[in-house]
Amino acid sequence: MGKMKDVFSKLKQLQDILLKQFAAEEEIEEIPHDLKKMKSKYEKLKRSLEENNKNIENYTKTIEELRKNIEALNADKQKYENQILQIKTQKEYEALTSEIAQIEEKITMMKEEEEDLNNELVKISKEIEKEGVELQSLEETIAVKEKEVKELLEKKKEELDGYLKERDKIAAGLDEEVIYKFEKIVKNKDGLGIVSIRNNVCMGCNMILPPQFVNDVRREDSIIFCPNCSRILYYYDEESRVPEQSVTI
Ligand SMILES: [Zn+2]
Repeated sequence: MGKMKDVFSKLKQLQDILLKQFAAEEEIEEIPHDLKKMKSKYEKLKRSLEENNKNIENYTKTIEELRKNIEALNADKQKYENQILQIKTQKEYEALTSEIAQIEEKITMMKEEEEDLNNELVKISKEIEKEGVELQSLEETIAVKEKEVKELLEKKKEELDGYLKERDKIAAGLDEEVIYKFEKIVKNKDGLGIVSIRNNVCMGCNMILPPQFVNDVRREDSIIFCPNCSRILYYYDEESRVPEQSVTI
């Protein structure tokens, strides 16, 4: 049954290559991670800067309006104050002073609002300045990182390409369906897709297998999967020509 021994040996080779392939694929996935985070931070900062600029514009406009209103109110106040000089009755006097008091109250409120907005403007201006510096520095960092990521990716992809070619070479002589299943097992079962049976026990999951089942595996007529862990099984004995390998992950 040399043919099956050959298949087992090839599957073990395939497993080693698959592990390298998966690791490379994972790294390729990981490499741009920090760059993506930086870019999203950059976008967030840019949006905040735009928002702040818009606020500056709005607040400046509101302050302008407030000043105009205060000016108009002051003119009214002046007008009433002039009228006071010409009034004849106590009643008229009271009406005018009450009017003036109301205007003064409005002016005070508007001035307070103006002051609040001015304080806000100072605060936002400082933020804008800070964000501008941060954006500039982030832009430079991203440019450097982008170059680094590009180079790393190229290198890793080249490495992966080599593994894929090697994988295809090994897989060439094997059944497609078996390879498909085997790859899934290697991926999902901690990198171990083919294991031996020793003393009627699956070395992958430690399940005790029925003697008849073990005999089937031993006969090496076909590829048999462990009913419990789905790994491909081969029978181990001292004279086995399949070298035992410790799997390195
Ligand atoms: Zn098993």
